[in-house]
Amino acid sequence: MWKCKKCSCNRFYQTFRGILSIEKADKNQEIIKSRDDILKYSKFYCEECKKSGWTLDEVAKWEEDMNE
Ligand SMILES: [Zn+2]
Repeated sequence: MWKCKKCSCNRFYQTFRGILSIEKADKNQEIIKSRDDILKYSKFYCEECKKSGWTLDEVAKWEEDMNE
């Protein structure tokens, strides 16, 4: 499993921001989106110590599970 290089936590999250292009909207604000939504992924973060990096292996290192 992937473990944080700093605190050995194994839970991470990644943030992103997106842009939804609105093609049109009706009176009830029912939105019809155009297809080319843009999602911009942001950094990976360790959930525990908030260490961050642009790739998972910047934040964490892979360790084989020895328990089995
Ligand atoms: Zn950590």
